[in-house]
Amino acid sequence: MGKQQWCLRVNRQGAEAVRRALLDEGTLDKSLKIRPDGDELLFPVISECEGSMLAEFEELHQRVPLPRHELVGGIAILAEDDIIGAAAILADRPSVHTALFAESAVEGEFRTKRFRILAGEETTATIHTEYGRTFRIDLEKAYFSARLASERQRIAAMMNEGEEVLDMFAGVGPFAVILAEKASIVWACDLNPEAVSLLIENIARNRVSNVIPVLADAASLPEVYGRRFDRVIMNLPLMAETFLPAASLLCKPGGMIHFYALVADEEDDTPILSRIPIRAMEKRFVRSYAPGRSHVVYDIVVE
Ligand code: SAM
Repeated sequence: MGKQQWCLRVNRQGAEAVRRALLDEGTLDKSLKIRPDGDELLFPVISECEGSMLAEFEELHQRVPLPRHELVGGIAILAEDDIIGAAAILADRPSVHTALFAESAVEGEFRTKRFRILAGEETTATIHTEYGRTFRIDLEKAYFSARLASERQRIAAMMNEGEEVLDMFAGVGPFAVILAEKASIVWACDLNPEAVSLLIENIARNRVSNVIPVLADAASLPEVYGRRFDRVIMNLPLMAETFLPAASLLCKPGGMIHFYALVADEEDDTPILSRIPIRAMEKRFVRSYAPGRSHVVYDIVVE
């Protein structure tokens, strides 16, 4: 059964600004659920005011289930384009400052997405914490996924102290900064200047002194370095395969390449195996990506 309450009728386009203003004034009736009405939203207010009207609202006695979303720092990325759900997330989670909806898949060389702001602050930037390390992220400027957090810990756990590491596609530096704890040095390369700029900030904010940011095309690294590393990280799913010959030139014999890929579940590994001299290889499931398709990692010991 609904409850009659005074409310303001607002066009969806300006709705977020009004919601914030009502929250700031303390006039939004938070015990009632904001209601859609065609192209407009009805905001329940605590008392009659200019332009208000009476309408019936659902009471928020119980916790409303929040829409499906992923958290990156203070940003919630919703699975659906859901402005009401976005407002519910902001009301429910004090640490969330912005709710976004991805208007595109990952695209282009820099592997970024385009986002629309559904609610909260007008930004795609935030601070994300992963296992005690903090990272400045700007989702529209540079790739970041929180979903590889346990993968980064797995690699850190299998490392020996003092290893020399190369991250060929470093982004804003989550692998590089986390692996730096055990490594003697980590070279962190990316083609995207915005990613490298955030990487530099992340090196500083975590006070690591053994990560070297490199703005370069990973294909040119064998010529630049003329030397080899104990461990090479290749996190560029869909496209990393073409860089495997370069990676094998950059990895010491007996060293390890971590090669991430998106593969169909029954896919044959032979093309990957044939590109470089391999002593041993283990394929691991990282997470499911789409029906019949998985994000996997090949841990490759180079011959
Ligand atoms: N490793 C990071 C992480 O886990 O958050 C970023 C991975 S993201 C999937 C791939 C990164 O590779 C992007 O930041 C993109 O800019 C970079 N990239 C794409 N092509 C590249 C190239 N030819 N050389 C160096 N970096 C490249």
